[in-house]
Amino acid sequence: MKKIAIIGAGIAGLSAGIHARANGFEAEIYESHAVPGGLCTSWRRGDYLVDGCIHWLCGSSGKGPLGKYLAEVGALEGRKFVDREEITRIEVGSEGDRRWFVAYTDPERLNAHLKELSPGDSAEIDRFTALIRKFADFPAGCDKPAELMGPGDFLALMKAIKPFMREYRELGSLTIEQYSARFASPHIREALREILAMPGFSFFALLMMMSWHATGNAGYPLGGSLALAESLERRFVSLGGSVRYGAKVERILTERGKAVGIVLADGSTIRADFVISAADGWQTIYRMLDGNHTNAKIDRMYRELPLFNSIFCLSLGIDRDLSSLPALSVHCLKTPVTVEGITLKKIGIKSYCDDPAMAPKGKSLIAILYPADFDRWKKLAEDKESYRAEKEAISDILVGAVEEILPGIRTDIEMRDAATPVTWERYTANRRGTIEGWFISPKTLTMRVPKTLPGLKNFYMAGQWVQPGGGITSCVKAGRDAISLICARERTRFSPATGGRQAP
Ligand SMILES: Cc1cc2nc3c(=O)[nH]c(=O)nc-3n(C[C@H](O)[C@H](O)[C@H](O)COP(=O)(O)OP(=O)(O)OC[C@H]3O[C@@H](n4cnc5c(N)ncnc54)[C@H](O)[C@@H]3O)c2cc1C
Repeated sequence: MKKIAIIGAGIAGLSAGIHARANGFEAEIYESHAVPGGLCTSWRRGDYLVDGCIHWLCGSSGKGPLGKYLAEVGALEGRKFVDREEITRIEVGSEGDRRWFVAYTDPERLNAHLKELSPGDSAEIDRFTALIRKFADFPAGCDKPAELMGPGDFLALMKAIKPFMREYRELGSLTIEQYSARFASPHIREALREILAMPGFSFFALLMMMSWHATGNAGYPLGGSLALAESLERRFVSLGGSVRYGAKVERILTERGKAVGIVLADGSTIRADFVISAADGWQTIYRMLDGNHTNAKIDRMYRELPLFNSIFCLSLGIDRDLSSLPALSVHCLKTPVTVEGITLKKIGIKSYCDDPAMAPKGKSLIAILYPADFDRWKKLAEDKESYRAEKEAISDILVGAVEEILPGIRTDIEMRDAATPVTWERYTANRRGTIEGWFISPKTLTMRVPKTLPGLKNFYMAGQWVQPGGGITSCVKAGRDAISLICARERTRFSPATGGRQAP
């Protein structure tokens, strides 16, 4: 039995492990942290379960290729999802003309709501919601990794995407801001810009996300993110795989242009026939492999391409029932607050009240997130006391802002947990604490990142660094792809793992 050494027990590493076992390889995962999941995680604080990840999971219905990939690794088995009626609600407009924009998941309801906001935009609103409906059927790529697609596969894919090409040609190069300019209403323009609050984000990617919501295929998994990762870990172990925790990989061993194993931080060497890195891309290429297997294109990507920002996340455990709060809402502040030198005129509140795992009955867990400055936090972290003091100071400011929305809340807070960009970096080693790797702009939307490195055989990469835009389901697919590639190299037929709740 040939051995695959997998670096990282995040979603991609676990998925690779599961498919490796299903295809008869010996598989061991080496994880520097003490728990599985990587970015897909939650942590306990007293009676509360703080969540650090999932808002929605694409493929949650179990239908279509995305659902199939999740089912194969056991991500859906026994798991309940909440299909929310709203993606978010955002307060828009200026003083004296404030309105609530609700991003309903149902396109009909969204259509009616947008027309109430701006009857003059009816024609554009009809086009927008028709797009959401249409793109629910957009093909999610090919089962095979792009590297193994033959002419027949390309032809089949081209045929499947043909009905969408007209819209893609028209909209694929637009950011959300550029698309929003099609609406006359300043309220709708503002709402669309803030729906993800990431300037430069691809409109097309937003459209796909809204389409998945519209078909009940982007639910929130009850029980939180770590529970989801643990179900993959259980599947992997039940198939005979093993995970070694507290095992930081320092180096990937190479001999004559071939990966032959890994070296752990404790100095031990593990030999393997194949190595998959499902860890941070930069660390893999420039640290674990000393930059010996790169080229100008890879160097330019890692030097120049923008990443998803990292975040500051304040989670609050509150002794009050806040179940009337929507899952995600963005409120205008009468008194804007300044954090990290940036004035926040609005504040987003994420509520977990529809998930009983997060807080005791009658109590609530909420979180306030904003994109934070990695370099600033990294500098602060050089002095533990200043870092801790700044975390507290910013948390106080944010609590003050929440107090404006939920008067009297301060006295009901019984748990406070703040995570900074350095927290994400420390626990997952992701570059600059990014939450999803490469940023999805119109330029990177269809970017293909190689899963192998120049001059290095028997080595593959998986996860958000080869799957621009990241996300749980993409990373599940990336782990699957790595094993497909190894099977192709071994000239054996790839058989996906089976089991779990398969959609009808
Ligand atoms: C706040 C937030 C919200 C998100 N929301 C969503 C969402 O709603 N829906 C969605 O689909 N996705 C969401 N994501 C993105 C998603 O979580 C990630 O894209 C995905 O989990 C990345 O998985 P991965 O396996 O590629 O990498 P990671 O999760 O980064 O896993 C890498 C693993 O490798 C380990 N590792 C690193 N270096 C080493 C080493 N040297 N030796 C050993 N182990 C190592 C790390 O500890 C980690 O466990 C969100 C992420 C965040 C942070």
